Amino acid sequence: MSSRRIDLPLSEMPDKWYNIAPDLPRPLDPPLHPGTRQPIGPEDMAPIFPMGLLAQEMSSESWIEIPDEVRYAYQLYRPTPVYRAFELEKALDTPAHIYYKHEYVSPAGSHKPNTAIPQAYFNKLEGVKKISTETGAGQWGSALSMACRMFGLECEVFMVGVSYDQKPYRRVLMETWGATCHRSPSNLTNIGRRFLAEDPNHPGSLGIAITEALEVAVADESTKYSLGSVLNHVMLHQTVIGLEAMKQMELAGEYPDVVIGCFGGGSNFAGISFPFIRENLKSGKKTRIIAVEPKAAPTLTRGPYRYDFGDTGQMTPLLRMFTLGHGFVPAPIHAGGLRYHGSAPLASACLDQGLIEAVSYHQTACYDSAVLFARTESWVVAPETSHAVHAAVEEARKARETGEPKVILFNLSGHGILDLAGYEKYLSGQLEDYELPQEEIDKSLAAVPEV
Ligand SMILES: *Cc1c(COP(=O)(O)O)cnc(C)c1O
Repeated sequence: MSSRRIDLPLSEMPDKWYNIAPDLPRPLDPPLHPGTRQPIGPEDMAPIFPMGLLAQEMSSESWIEIPDEVRYAYQLYRPTPVYRAFELEKALDTPAHIYYKHEYVSPAGSHKPNTAIPQAYFNKLEGVKKISTETGAGQWGSALSMACRMFGLECEVFMVGVSYDQKPYRRVLMETWGATCHRSPSNLTNIGRRFLAEDPNHPGSLGIAITEALEVAVADESTKYSLGSVLNHVMLHQTVIGLEAMKQMELAGEYPDVVIGCFGGGSNFAGISFPFIRENLKSGKKTRIIAVEPKAAPTLTRGPYRYDFGDTGQMTPLLRMFTLGHGFVPAPIHAGGLRYHGSAPLASACLDQGLIEAVSYHQTACYDSAVLFARTESWVVAPETSHAVHAAVEEARKARETGEPKVILFNLSGHGILDLAGYEKYLSGQLEDYELPQEEIDKSLAAVPEV
């Protein structure tokens, strides 16, 4: 019988993270100071991030050691399994072989602890007492709450208003791990008060929540800030996903023709794909790498590649990335974790340099595939993850037409057990798609500075 599940023993858990930066054909453009517009160094960011993480952010080493304390924490749920989706393949009547890497199994229910744990660890090492952060759907906030608790740090989370209202149980999860969670925009910060004055029920956005968390970190010396995606060190930490998956595919005796990840800021996508991009670059492999985003926040497929702020309040450095403009407020789709205006500079460089592809789908199509997945493979995936599932289903359908026994690997970034409101809407036929008019993108891009 061929294996439905491919496990790695604990001893095969990676002991190094993979840094793609030195392998890029063209080097990354540097982050720029928001005021002077000059390239910045680690000292400029030292007030908000610990030096250990800044060293990783700027590193030109290909492999970076994973500390023992982090590997000890990873053992709670790593190595995660890879599954062969036999039941989904049957339902699709496809010759394709579909595999998925199962990040669902972490205590917070997603890939986010892969970076939350080392981030909390490196902050603790430098005497930080508290970490402030933002969260969209609540996945990042809950992962960081858990990680802060592991290392005895306080955690303060600003949660995007629309998700705070739609997903109360994520807040309860954060509080269970001992964190404090505020609806963003809040009346605790300058930018929060500014948006609340406009609209007391403002839906919020990740860009606003980031500014709020940054304000809190800048105001207090023993507090640092943490970001759950986008930055180089976050992409780095997530590569444990792809490094494990590569060994597991080897155990399965296959190599993927297509690797797929859903794309918000880019971290789970980077995690599953960067090790495979390395093989494309170094060993002449020809795996197609596909980033999947929602049509309601089409950063990679409709945004330009240019310098922009990571947050609405223009406090972050300017990063060169695909962006819809730092003031962009996406429609309230259920995939809260994909509602971000920008994208990781490393993943953006990969797209610009032709190393990856990007596609976008409407949320109803993604729920079609998520429900099919639940009824075949049984796992109920996060609304974010449904985008990766749908892309895998589309690739498998194409394989049926062409008769190709193509090998597809996608990252199952998280579970949907706390996101059942979206499933309920879908099942009762009330889920809507949002067409994003070009004027809205143009308007938001008009506020992006020329650099
Ligand atoms: C946060 C999240 C995402 C999107 O973030 P990335 O940084 O793009 O990975 C995707 N899936 C799940 C389950 C998430 O929690």
